[in-house]
Amino acid sequence: MNTPFWGPDFDSLVSTDPEIADVVLGELDRLRGGLQLIASENLASPAVLAALGSTLSNKYAEGYPGRRYYGGCERVDVAEEIGIARARELFGAEHANLQPHSGASANLAAYAAFCEPGDVVLAMDLKQGGHLTHGSPVNLSGRWFEPVAYGVRQDTELIDYDQVRDLALEHRPRMIIAGATAYPRLIDFAAFRAVADEVGAILVVDAAHFIGLVAGKVIPSPVPFADVVTFTTHKVLRGPRGGAILCRAEHAKAIDKAVFPFTQGGPLMHSVAAKAVALKEAATTEFQGYATQVVANAAALARGLEAEGMRVVSGGTDTHLALLDVRPLDVTGAEAERRCGDATITLNKNAIPFDPEPPAVGSGIRVGSPSVTTQGMTEPEMAEIARLVGRAIREPAQAGQVAAAVGRLTAAHPAYPRD
Ligand code: PLP
Repeated sequence: MNTPFWGPDFDSLVSTDPEIADVVLGELDRLRGGLQLIASENLASPAVLAALGSTLSNKYAEGYPGRRYYGGCERVDVAEEIGIARARELFGAEHANLQPHSGASANLAAYAAFCEPGDVVLAMDLKQGGHLTHGSPVNLSGRWFEPVAYGVRQDTELIDYDQVRDLALEHRPRMIIAGATAYPRLIDFAAFRAVADEVGAILVVDAAHFIGLVAGKVIPSPVPFADVVTFTTHKVLRGPRGGAILCRAEHAKAIDKAVFPFTQGGPLMHSVAAKAVALKEAATTEFQGYATQVVANAAALARGLEAEGMRVVSGGTDTHLALLDVRPLDVTGAEAERRCGDATITLNKNAIPFDPEPPAVGSGIRVGSPSVTTQGMTEPEMAEIARLVGRAIREPAQAGQVAAAVGRLTAAHPAYPRD
């Protein structure tokens, strides 16, 4: 189809800025040539990328559809309205805001909507799987609020719900955050709701990691339980980099005001439009099949890595990611990450619960299945990937041979096929 689209014209980038064109092509080669096992990444579709690379990037649209501070917003209003309607429909939410620039911005808006500086916020310990924005001292959330951290039980490595309740009763938080960046199991949202109700706290679920699995209807939704659900749009959900918020109608005004004008200026309308595209894709039965396979692949990957001698934290996974203790292989997480990188397998070192190593070293690795599943890989490939990860870590001198085997896998299941 010959569409009158004025959009990504790669030749113009090559002629205007060959250095940056080189970076873009080099990154595409990297994606195509290696295995991407970073749990928080995915490969956005050409339709999402087309919206992102469109002239919507030019438009200033401070405000919300129908209530903007700039003229000429008729078209972008439509994109945002469509996106909001899709988010509400897909997740059964009373209200949606697609303007947060990122997951961190979405969380900042949640703090802004409900907390004053100095308020107590109960959230998961960063060292046990929580996110930087959940009260780390190096983040605004830890500097301007009073964080209290819950964690996992040492024996099961599952969230310690008794501790959550005890800490809530002791500290009476204004807000409780459920959600994590390195927790492979399902979260009991009903348990968090009960604690929040008992102490009169707002319950925010940071669903950044797993919202795509909720969209694909393979894990339970936090929406019926939470006052607010924040999430990123670029992980399993497979949209553009960005954030979003769902909430109950009673919080709609507070959340919208917290995003704009309190913490952000003009929304990135190309990104809002790309989020709408991703939400449309995520509502398909095809995406449900994808999400189902993501979970099956993560489980297969965890089993395979266990067979390679690593210890699976919490004994398994219910989601798109697994956390592995690599100490049985006599390496640190940082060393395992480096050795896999040498073999073109990209994953990240990660602290494991009660880790004796500092975070920059870590005793574990985190692996995720979203990208390789987008490439069409299934359980047999996961078994092969696990063998390759094990070999890359145990035999660093064999990095070249492992990389060659990775090349055969990615040739059969390319990221961004050439035709
Ligand atoms: N919340 C959680 C649980 C995350 O895992 C992340 C990022 O990985 C974020 C928030 C922040 O998202 P962003 O990097 O888009 O700011």
